[in-house]
Amino acid sequence: MPLIVQKFGGTSVADTQKILGAARKAIRAAQAGNQVVVVVSAMGKTTDHLVSLAKEITDRPSHREMDMLMSSGEQVTIALMAIALESLGYKAVSMTGAQIGIKTDSSHTKARIRSISTDSMRKALDAGKIVIAAGFQGIDDEGNITTLGRGGSDTSAVALAAALGADECDIYTDVDGVYTTDPRLLAEARKVAQISYDEMLELASLGAGVMHSRSIEFAKKFGVTVHVRSSFTDTPGSLIVATPESNTAVAGAAIAKNEARLTLVGVPDKPGNAMRLFARIAEAKIATDMIVQNIGQEGRTDISFTVPGNDLTATLDVLKTVSEEIGAERVDYQENVTKVSVVGLGMEGQGGVAEKMFRAVSRKMINISMITTSEIKISTLVSWEDALETLRAVHSVFQLEKTPSQLNSPELSAKQAKPIKPELDVARLSGMEDILIEAIHLDQTQARITMPNVPDKPGIAAEMFERIAEAGIVVDMIVQSCGRNGKAIITYTVPRTVLDTALDVTKKLAGEWKSDEPLYNSTIAILSVRGTGLRSHTGLAYRMFKTLADGKINVNVISTSERNISITVNNAQGEQGLQLLKKEFANEMI
Ligand code: ASP
Ligand code: MG
Repeated sequence: MPLIVQKFGGTSVADTQKILGAARKAIRAAQAGNQVVVVVSAMGKTTDHLVSLAKEITDRPSHREMDMLMSSGEQVTIALMAIALESLGYKAVSMTGAQIGIKTDSSHTKARIRSISTDSMRKALDAGKIVIAAGFQGIDDEGNITTLGRGGSDTSAVALAAALGADECDIYTDVDGVYTTDPRLLAEARKVAQISYDEMLELASLGAGVMHSRSIEFAKKFGVTVHVRSSFTDTPGSLIVATPESNTAVAGAAIAKNEARLTLVGVPDKPGNAMRLFARIAEAKIATDMIVQNIGQEGRTDISFTVPGNDLTATLDVLKTVSEEIGAERVDYQENVTKVSVVGLGMEGQGGVAEKMFRAVSRKMINISMITTSEIKISTLVSWEDALETLRAVHSVFQLEKTPSQLNSPELSAKQAKPIKPELDVARLSGMEDILIEAIHLDQTQARITMPNVPDKPGIAAEMFERIAEAGIVVDMIVQSCGRNGKAIITYTVPRTVLDTALDVTKKLAGEWKSDEPLYNSTIAILSVRGTGLRSHTGLAYRMFKTLADGKINVNVISTSERNISITVNNAQGEQGLQLLKKEFANEMI
């Protein structure tokens, strides 16, 4: 018998009428011949309310008791949902995380799922009951109640679907699907029919709030098809799958409005310094993004990155200490910056997307203060006032308002995404949410060019990457960061075979801009680790840096995404770095 997991979020079970509505959806699925597991969140804003009660007593409630408190919200909903189903004449049974056997680690308020026992659920399902599971919660080895982090019911639902081998996991919510960008910000945002796990993961971590990003990690690892849809209508929503039926170069644009940019200026350029910085930040459990370490000049380099605005003070504290430890010159930061990113599987290995994005932004006379890229995303940092205008320009230049079939311009009908989910040997993992490493790779075909001291004004990146594209060159990594005295530094990599051509173009630009001669290195190696959960496991980048630092390997350019972390090192140390990383991650490799 097919099995369906249905998840109803807080707004979908906000009152008893809505709970009855959700119950009817479960009944319909059962009547259609499915076994049904329903996962629910706490009603409406219950969790917020519970948190505020604790805060009325103290600013620092213990995490164990917060889990005890917050988990009560879901317990109310499961009981009411079971009562609703019974009142409608259906057999149902409610179960807490502990009763199901959702085992987690002991990190209260942000626990990770280790294993799920399916026996009790199977028994109830086989007895013809609809199973109602409490989302967001689990139990550790000592029997303490744990929660998975705010928004964690999505993760419960997809994890249950994975453990039960469900045919589909329906996420019922207050929006009717996944959009090309936040429809509350841009009216022209379009609901997508299908999107890939990798794209959804990037969009979720870059600011799209639809789903808890750890739930997508589960879906990807275990191959669960996720259907995001409205609980208030019957229209089909969006499917999150391994390989969408059609895809364009860019699948969506995300905006993270309230970010802060920090720079550690004048870091002595030697092995271990980047490692120490990110170790301290990981210890403070701060999630960094847009990490840019630019090419050192005079033995010193600048390391910039972004953090959520709320973490600015905590990050400044960390930087103060680290700065003294490693002898950096100073700390520089900027508040109220916005990260606007585009994501698409179709941009992998194909040029054209970056310069198009930069040009769209520059046409609005908006300055980009930082750029990072990975194979399937490009992120730019702009000022808070320019945020919406940037998003609109980017959304429109990639014609995201049009369905893929409406777009037949050859430029945008990207190559078919290749299947990205090999048969994963997930059973080898000690915990369901452990990092999974698919590949560790050494690329010795690239060269690096750096343009120091380019004018920091609108249109610079657009001009540069258009000219390089005109010369027929496909650029791989691009990073731009703020240099000294309001000048920008742009670094990019190209195949070594076209280094001379790229240098010619870049030198010509340097002449036109009266900026310094470009620097280059034709003997770099790019080491990359690819997998699932790389960003949500904040310590991973740190382990990579530490492994290389222990081997006395100096790290240059860094690029991070959900599924990939790449760093450039000296070519002569490439092979050694590869072996060190393979050893370090031997247990997580599939
Ligand atoms: N009730 C929890 C929260 O509000 C979990 C969830 O809704 O996903 O964060
Ligand atoms: Mg939610």
